[in-house]
Amino acid sequence: MTIIVSGTGIAGMSAALAAANAGHKVTLCGHLASPPPAGGIQLAPNGWQALDQLGLFDAAIKRATQLDHIIVRDLNNGATLTRLNLANRYASIGRADLLDLLHGVVAKHHAITHHPALISQAVPHKDGVDLVLDDGQSLMAAALIAADGVAGLGRRLVTGAPSDELRHPISHLGRVAMRADIDAADLPAVFAQPASNLWLGQGAHLVHYPIAGGRHINFAVTLSAQLANSHWQAKIFGTNPLFEKLAMGQFQWMKTSVSPAGSPLCWRRGRVVLAGDAAHIMPPHLAQGAGQALQDAASLQQALTAAASIDDALASYARQRTSAVSAVVRKADISGKIMALGGARGRLRNIMIGLAGPSFLQSWLADVWAGDPAMAE
Ligand SMILES: Cc1cc2nc3c(=O)[nH]c(=O)nc-3n(C[C@H](O)[C@H](O)[C@H](O)COP(=O)(O)OP(=O)(O)OC[C@H]3O[C@@H](n4cnc5c(N)ncnc54)[C@H](O)[C@@H]3O)c2cc1C
Repeated sequence: MTIIVSGTGIAGMSAALAAANAGHKVTLCGHLASPPPAGGIQLAPNGWQALDQLGLFDAAIKRATQLDHIIVRDLNNGATLTRLNLANRYASIGRADLLDLLHGVVAKHHAITHHPALISQAVPHKDGVDLVLDDGQSLMAAALIAADGVAGLGRRLVTGAPSDELRHPISHLGRVAMRADIDAADLPAVFAQPASNLWLGQGAHLVHYPIAGGRHINFAVTLSAQLANSHWQAKIFGTNPLFEKLAMGQFQWMKTSVSPAGSPLCWRRGRVVLAGDAAHIMPPHLAQGAGQALQDAASLQQALTAAASIDDALASYARQRTSAVSAVVRKADISGKIMALGGARGRLRNIMIGLAGPSFLQSWLADVWAGDPAMAE
């Protein structure tokens, strides 16, 4: 019987490929994003390791932009606090480029069928899952891999959490990310340098890095929802001449809620397992959400290939990923809290980061970037 995957984001498409690579017939349910999402993501060594395990490394790295350094600076005075050399694979990639690559591979895979409908109902039982789609069709599956995002049906089904709790309206959250994908030609040339730049301000921080070989620059500013409501560009960028054009408010920004961190203790209910943001609500402060989604897929592929039964495979996947990911989610949460400090605590943070130097940053990130030990064997 077929494995059904819900969600055509990074998690869903990579999970569909993983299950097909492990020898299963797969139906991928969901609509392709239209228009494709703008901007990019950073992928650390663990994300590239997972792409390698999925057989996608060569195709993905061709579309990526290698980043040589992470540079942490003080947003108010421009001082460099620390600079970490990136010896291992660390690169940015356009969201649309990664999704296009995944979709191309999924569309060509003989074992995967794409069904462009949402799952509106899923009833797990001991031999599989019965599903109803929003186009009226009913399907029976040996298992459901729910990669349908933070507020999807999968998380509600597995954890029993009410949907309101999962939607995180921006007003109730307190913090938001403003994202922009800006043509590099509209900015000073320094923005195209192959580095990931983190600027720590007072209660707000900014990340930018080049994508598409330096032709575009991806920006994400994390700030309070209240500050984001009025002339925030002038307040955030106005203190630094490098950001003069951004301070003028001429570029388009997209507001995204920053979800509070969380990963349920259980990722599995019978033949339903979670993957991607459906499994781990990952604040973006460690740039790990998509990387962990790719690791979920690589782990699923390994479990479905090695285990004697689907039940054993899903149990092994859920066991392995639950414990590995909860540590990353916690770290992302703590990182966000440190980045959000303002006033005297923000100034002290910057002094401490400067004093600690790159080795501290490296050790903070080392276990996250190492990926799952079980996958490295
Ligand atoms: C500001 C910001 C910066 C980030 N930067 C990085 C970064 O640098 N590096 C990194 O690794 N990560 C980063 N992330 C995180 C990353 O973007 C996400 O973790 C990742 O995109 C999640 O992918 P996903 O497929 O799990 O979820 P989604 O992309 O949300 O996909 C879920 C899919 O499920 C579909 N769906 C919903 N309900 C149903 C249903 N009932 N049936 C079928 N389909 C359904 C939706 O339509 C959607 O297509 C960042 C996030 C933010 C907000």
